[in-house]
Amino acid sequence: MGIKEELKKSIILAVISSIIATILLSIVSEALKVILPLLGLSSPFDLLKFFQLQLQFPLWVTVFIFSIAVFTTAFSLRSISLGKKGVGSFTVKTKPLYSLEKGTYHKFNVDWDYIFGRYSINSPESYSYVVSEPICPKCKLEMDYKTSGFLRKKRFWHCLDCGTRYEVPKDVENIREAVEKFIDADFRKKRKE
Ligand SMILES: [Zn+2]
Repeated sequence: MGIKEELKKSIILAVISSIIATILLSIVSEALKVILPLLGLSSPFDLLKFFQLQLQFPLWVTVFIFSIAVFTTAFSLRSISLGKKGVGSFTVKTKPLYSLEKGTYHKFNVDWDYIFGRYSINSPESYSYVVSEPICPKCKLEMDYKTSGFLRKKRFWHCLDCGTRYEVPKDVENIREAVEKFIDADFRKKRKE
């Protein structure tokens, strides 16, 4: 995914978040209109003071906690959007039901189990389909996808057996799809030989 698309995605996410926030705020303010008179208060600001008196916190502590909550939410949203990369949720490709070949392909320092075949026995086109999560080449174990770092996220696959971390390529938008394209290319080359 290019920087432009990344930006587009972030903007869409921000717009959706603001809409949700606005809806929630209006619900809260409507609720406050009912609750405030019951507590004998007149404005939401009085409510803030009311809670502060209850909790005995100085104002800066309240503001500090609130800011941390906002940042945590923003960063978890960011990691969710990063985590979705490479899952291939937008592909409509389905597993070939008529398989011509099954194998393991080595790409991006890890192994991938795939099926090469046709959607059905009568389909004219054959294609590859990755059926596994990335596999550790040493242990043959399917690996977890993890991120590390706070501001600059690093993505890697982690083997629970040997503990090796395999760096996830940054410049590939959909890794699974990319692997399938490489497998397809290999089959195309074989056909020409
Ligand atoms: Zn391993």
